[in-house]
Amino acid sequence: MEELKNCPFCGGKAVFNTVSNSSAHHGVGFDFEIKCEDCGVKLPNRYKVEFSLTGSGGINPLYDDRKRAVEEWNNRP
Ligand SMILES: [Zn+2]
Repeated sequence: MEELKNCPFCGGKAVFNTVSNSSAHHGVGFDFEIKCEDCGVKLPNRYKVEFSLTGSGGINPLYDDRKRAVEEWNNRP
């Protein structure tokens, strides 16, 4: 996965910020946003990741917005 570029406004570090989380019997999910740690600027969109545990003990991604979130942050005008 591509890394988050620094903030286009202040040059600060951009981070994945968890907004909320949810769980169901089969998996767990996080809603997150991308924001700058320094000035607090963030993308207007919310994103989501969801995982479940596989029968063989692995982590199975059910839903994964991380790549899209990174692209949208990095290509922000
Ligand atoms: Zn910033």
